Amino acid sequence: MQAPSDRWNLTRVRISCPAVLRAAALLPLLLLTGAHAAAPVSPDTVAEQLREAALAGHSVAYAWVSELTTRFGPRPAGSLNEQRAAEWAAARLKALGFDNAHVERFPLTAWVRGSESGALVGAVPQPLVVAALGESPPTPADGLEGDVVIFPSLAALQAAPPGALSGKVAMVNLRMVRTQDGAGYGAAVEGRTEGPREAAQRGAIAFILRSTGTDGHRLAHTGTARYAEGRVPIPSFALSAPDADQLERLSALGQIPRVHLFSSASYRSDAYSQNVVADVRGTKKPEEYVLLGAHLDSWDQGTGAIDDGAGTAIIVGAAKLIRDLPHRPQRTVRVVLFGAEEVAQPVKPGGAFGGHAYADGHRAELERHVLAGESDLGTERVYAVELPAAQLHGDFATRLQRLLAPLAILPPSRSPEDAGTDVGPSIVAGVPAFTLDQDATHYFDIHHTPDDTLDKVDRGQLEQNVAAWAVLAWLAADSDLNFRSAGALPPPPAD
Ligand code: ZN
Ligand code: ZN
Repeated sequence: MQAPSDRWNLTRVRISCPAVLRAAALLPLLLLTGAHAAAPVSPDTVAEQLREAALAGHSVAYAWVSELTTRFGPRPAGSLNEQRAAEWAAARLKALGFDNAHVERFPLTAWVRGSESGALVGAVPQPLVVAALGESPPTPADGLEGDVVIFPSLAALQAAPPGALSGKVAMVNLRMVRTQDGAGYGAAVEGRTEGPREAAQRGAIAFILRSTGTDGHRLAHTGTARYAEGRVPIPSFALSAPDADQLERLSALGQIPRVHLFSSASYRSDAYSQNVVADVRGTKKPEEYVLLGAHLDSWDQGTGAIDDGAGTAIIVGAAKLIRDLPHRPQRTVRVVLFGAEEVAQPVKPGGAFGGHAYADGHRAELERHVLAGESDLGTERVYAVELPAAQLHGDFATRLQRLLAPLAILPPSRSPEDAGTDVGPSIVAGVPAFTLDQDATHYFDIHHTPDDTLDKVDRGQLEQNVAAWAVLAWLAADSDLNFRSAGALPPPPAD
């Protein structure tokens, strides 16, 4: 019997034609049976057909991510590129036959990367590869200079007394651990989010982070730092892993590394971002929603292919397969392409981001959002599924397990603790969440670097994701199951 992993390899080899030719995937889904069949087709049979159609390359997913990243390139929050990508996405979703395709704007203070540089200075100068952390302020016009104090972890920085870093550049040198489930990112990313604030509180004039990534390339991984009192307090930079090693070795030789840092980053307070919303309207209960989310914005140095062009492609591809079924599901499948995810903050200082804007703008509908999930971990294959506690065991889970098993996905065994940044505010408001857990072993080699480009999207694995999303979204939408832990769904609104 063919091992699942071999199957993906075969798929990858078989489907290798240029993206432009794959526009043929936009053709209606002809393979699905039932359009002219006399006998009704069971929901599980339809799910099997969706799965096989995705694996056969009949979804629009690859064409979508190819066109998105080619037409618009980087799509930083609040930028013209992000705005135009959203307008294109809404128009394309409408052309693909989605209902209610539209853009929902929200205000934003946009962070704009400027020029930036880093260097070791002194008797033997050396260049450093740095990238300003998102939302961090510029340096003075001629840069800043200071001795570097290296901490092995955020906790070590937090243990430094007040004033200990006066006039210094603080550096957190924590190495991110490579894991399949991405847990290494969770363990390391606090250095990026909290480091600038902690360093500033101890008198530091700037902050350097060993890039939160698992690669050894000489590229810096950017990402947003957290505000303190409404702003990131000091100029903050990610440093490539090889350069971080260099500073560590210099220090071990007894030298105190001294660096010059420069950034001309700026802010635009009159910017806006937007969410793109589109529906596959349900037949019997259109006011009940299964929400599929991903984010349309990206960091500015690559073209946002794996983060998160791929996620938008996966959910659009899955929903489009459902859209083209001979019989629509009972409930509405809603696709939301969120804006400004990358600059999300736990609170909303003077602005918003897509997840909050959606939850706020659709507050009255949220109690009839029956299930929500988000795709934002690249294109590697799905290997596990997590369901709300109310449906973790029982008939739905059993059917789902059987339908996902051919995709080499483990049975559901737990409920999500964190379903994602974009759906987060909706989940907090009570919407039940699922996750389709992707293999993140290699994701953080590329994540938030200039190397996040279309060539990193593995087509066979992308289609495995589409297959899994189509199966789960269809089963949930074509049911009357309650995924909430307790209580019944409220009655439909009186119109
Ligand atoms: Zn993302
Ligand atoms: Zn990201």
